[in-house]
Amino acid sequence: MDKYDYIIIGSGIAGLYTALLAKEQGSVLVITKGSIEDCNTRYAQGGIAAAIGKDDSRELHFRDTIAAGDGLCNAEAVRILASEAPARIADLVNLEVPFDTANGEIALTKEAAHSVPRILHAGGDATGEHIEVTLSRKVRVSQIQVLEDCLVTEILVDNGAVIGVRALDSRTSLFETFHCRFLILATGGAGHLYKFSTNSDIATGDGIALAYKAGAEITDMEFFQFHPTALRMPGVTPFLISESVRGEGGVLRNVDGYRFMPDYHPDADLAPRDVVSRSIIYEMKKTSSDRVFVDVTHLPPYVVTTRFPHIYRFCLVRGLDITRGLIPVAPAAHYLMGGVKTNTWGETSIEGLFAVGEVACTGVHGANRLASNSLLEAVVFSQRVIERTTKENVSEIPDSEKEKSTRCSLSKRKALKEVPPANLSALQELMWDKAGIIRDRQSLNEALDILDAWQACLPEPTDRPSYELNNLTFAGRLVAESALAREESRGAHFRSDFSKKLPDWQRHLILIKK
Ligand SMILES: Cc1cc2nc3c(=O)[nH]c(=O)nc-3n(C[C@H](O)[C@H](O)[C@H](O)COP(=O)(O)OP(=O)(O)OC[C@H]3O[C@@H](n4cnc5c(N)ncnc54)[C@H](O)[C@@H]3O)c2cc1C
Repeated sequence: MDKYDYIIIGSGIAGLYTALLAKEQGSVLVITKGSIEDCNTRYAQGGIAAAIGKDDSRELHFRDTIAAGDGLCNAEAVRILASEAPARIADLVNLEVPFDTANGEIALTKEAAHSVPRILHAGGDATGEHIEVTLSRKVRVSQIQVLEDCLVTEILVDNGAVIGVRALDSRTSLFETFHCRFLILATGGAGHLYKFSTNSDIATGDGIALAYKAGAEITDMEFFQFHPTALRMPGVTPFLISESVRGEGGVLRNVDGYRFMPDYHPDADLAPRDVVSRSIIYEMKKTSSDRVFVDVTHLPPYVVTTRFPHIYRFCLVRGLDITRGLIPVAPAAHYLMGGVKTNTWGETSIEGLFAVGEVACTGVHGANRLASNSLLEAVVFSQRVIERTTKENVSEIPDSEKEKSTRCSLSKRKALKEVPPANLSALQELMWDKAGIIRDRQSLNEALDILDAWQACLPEPTDRPSYELNNLTFAGRLVAESALAREESRGAHFRSDFSKKLPDWQRHLILIKK
């Protein structure tokens, strides 16, 4: 049986960029559960952050990222992110990612909580699509073997070290085993956990569930970022209305037309995402409405149509000309800050197992991600993963000198007499209502009792939908368990029964299988 040097699970920015670097070092197999371009990456709109502008610096990017992370960023990881960003952008330019330019230079825009314009974009608001298409084209013409429609169902570990994976080929319904020296998880996030989500339906927390079951440490799962502005139109998926729309001058108004954000935060419409999301929830309650609006009607129409062609067209074909009418929006689940715990080389607690991209928790986002830092995190840490696999000795801060953390495992739940039927929409509804933007002890306990009961009664998975439902239920359990344990509010985690940030909680929760 073949043994690959590298097996990479996932074909978003993290998986494909890692694959292109890995092919210089050995044999590579990419396994992905849909087609190569099925991922969240291709939906990224706003762009990718890097301190390359005249008025910017790596120090400023570092400071903005630390400030957004609300006390929980790993400072060393953030320093690496900000310092290595310009070099990784140069790599993407060399790979021919067509970033937009103005006056012969790469154009930069500003997003919430960035102190200067620092966001590179491509095709206006189609950055992710351009990156994904560019990388997948390079992978297709390379020697890299790609298995599409193949779902990884188990990480194989022997004597504490990874040896390969088991996977289900959805086309043949057969299971196969693949062996490797290095296994790189690049499986993305878990946004599909929630009823309203900007994520693609591939985001089912598979990598987190697989890694936990294999014995890896999982951390920061209580920190789920809800994007404040996803389109809220009947029968339309919550399509993202990028933050850069507000960065270019768009403002939020409630159903009465009132511009409310200056009442909530000095940065008004460009306040951190968690503040804007909660402010919208309060305004929706106050006005008994299920939406607020983004208003760009005061901007010159050519700015709207050239800077946001994708959003403009998406709304136009649904009967809304955003240069004339208000855009109905509401918050939606968007990005998981937590994930498989790694050090600054992408190494997990299992030998030979690496994690990169949204599935990983490198510590760069802390309790709240700074906009446009996730595409960047993927490329910066992909490069470090491959560097680590080629070097014997690397420096890494010992765990004991890092930030404080507490280890926990899943709690024992009470047995419910009646359990609602377990299915995807019931799970998404439960997570949205009980473990969403605003949580408390009672809602989280209710969620956990039901999740525990579902875990006990879900049948053995046999196909992709049933594996995904299992993984999502598991990921939901980890989110709710961590959210219940953290008795404070910080970053994206807001508890109405503990609404203040507490110094004692400046630490991470690490979940590990008993
Ligand atoms: C609408 C939207 C807009 C965004 N805008 C921005 C932005 O402007 N800037 C920014 O920095 N970030 C943005 N983000 C976040 C960013 O896009 C993601 O965090 C990033 O693209 C994740 O990349 P990834 O490679 O880690 O995962 P993904 O791109 O999600 O790829 C994961 C891959 O893993 C595969 N996979 C998963 N499980 C399995 C399995 N069990 N077996 C085999 N394959 C599997 C999937 O099929 C997929 O190919 C946005 C996200 C969304 C949803």
